[in-house]
Amino acid sequence: MSLKEIRQAIFDLNREDYSSLLKELNEFDYLTSKIKVKTCVYCNSGHIIKHGRYNHLDRYRCKECGKTFIPTTGTIFYYIQKKHIFIDYLKIMQIEGIVPLAQIKKRLDIANQTAFDWRHKILMLYSSGFKTLDTDVYIKLRQFRFSQKGRKNIDEKFTAKANHLPANVIFAGNSKNVQLRLSKLGELEHWDLQKVLKRFIKKNSKVILAVNPVFSNYFKSKSYKTIEVQNLKKTELINLQDTYSSNSDLELKRIIDKKFRGIATKYFQVYSNFLSSFVFNRKRLDLKDLVKIKAVWFKFIQIERMYVNFIVKYCGIFEPFDRVKRFWKNEDRFHHLEYGALIGTSKI
Ligand SMILES: [Zn+2]
Repeated sequence: MSLKEIRQAIFDLNREDYSSLLKELNEFDYLTSKIKVKTCVYCNSGHIIKHGRYNHLDRYRCKECGKTFIPTTGTIFYYIQKKHIFIDYLKIMQIEGIVPLAQIKKRLDIANQTAFDWRHKILMLYSSGFKTLDTDVYIKLRQFRFSQKGRKNIDEKFTAKANHLPANVIFAGNSKNVQLRLSKLGELEHWDLQKVLKRFIKKNSKVILAVNPVFSNYFKSKSYKTIEVQNLKKTELINLQDTYSSNSDLELKRIIDKKFRGIATKYFQVYSNFLSSFVFNRKRLDLKDLVKIKAVWFKFIQIERMYVNFIVKYCGIFEPFDRVKRFWKNEDRFHHLEYGALIGTSKI
């Protein structure tokens, strides 16, 4: 078709097809025009004023902290040049899950580093918040190997010690939802559980668990009603099947070990957030909602710092553990983030 013919064909479209074609062609503009700005993305103040334009978007200035920003600041589109290819990547991950880097870079004709960064940026969409489960809840513990896959400049002394420590992952779920948290390297103690469990479980929920002294003691101390599956008769177990029979923990272990051949502990939580949403909860996020999430960029650039913070606080090894250097423009603006922002225990 010549350009002339294409043009004619477009003009011949009915109104509905015409506007849906336009929408498709301008998907980025369309999506970003839906973002409402009410507070400052840096300091959360409501004292903001319009401050000119940036392409099709309004620019804002915060009267509290003085910084300027646009509606896409902090979202998945922040600092992305090839936005239409990025939207394709996003759609592919929504449908197919995590596609091997070698494959996606060929399909979209992008560089290796881009394929890697974009994947992680998209994973960050899934990484915030606890959802308190409002029915009976099962709690399971799985231990994964500590992994520094892909890391350069590995510290030998630290690694020799950390390799012996299990990466503890707590699963909380019911028949509808599964959530998990990487909570510690090394043996779990009472307060490690406190941090995670109280946010998953309602006070009046029954907790179903396999016997494990640390967990049992924790629940006893908090006066939760518990059911320990080892003590049950077969018939009683069948009644709990809906809640307890989920093999999400084993399934996740299989995906991580077989499909990814291990995930770096640094990225464990963000991959798990995606997998639990994609594989277990079968949730597909709407593009229109995705572009509104403001914390993506900040988490993306701070993951290394948050990881170092996690290692220092939650592994009990007193070797110095330094971050791998990769500095981002404006990173210093977001120095307030801790690992809690990644696992959802503190607000961003
Ligand atoms: Zn501000």
